[in-house]
Amino acid sequence: MSVADVVELVNEWGTQPRGKDGRPRAEGVLSDLADELHPIFAEKSDRAVKITKILDQTAVRPQVADHHGKLIESWIVDDASQDIRASAALALRHHLTSHPGRIGVCADDQCADVYVDASPAGRRRFCCLTCQNRSRAAAFRQRRRAGG
Ligand SMILES: [Zn+2]
Repeated sequence: MSVADVVELVNEWGTQPRGKDGRPRAEGVLSDLADELHPIFAEKSDRAVKITKILDQTAVRPQVADHHGKLIESWIVDDASQDIRASAALALRHHLTSHPGRIGVCADDQCADVYVDASPAGRRRFCCLTCQNRSRAAAFRQRRRAGG
């Protein structure tokens, strides 16, 4: 699972992203996981603690696998139901240790989607251009109203 897959999971199944879009709340394992992961995107503090907690709970164990003579990183969990949680936590761990701070939640009022910031400057604030444009238009209207 890549960090882009984690973003897709949270936006597709998370209660907050669905709620802001007017979609009904999803239920089940993926929804629970999405709701567990959303705060990691939303709050900078405690990211390490939250990700470490998931890694502990899944009891994921790092391994090395031989892939046609080439050694690659792999991992295993004893409880197969923890596969996706472990995979998501490992993806976030890898991403955040290589690119600190490069995740977030859309700054638009009407959206709670999460994103990975791959911009050169690392100042992304919106999940997509639609939200960025909507938010800028709203700010423009607000300034005009304030100005009379
Ligand atoms: Zn958005």
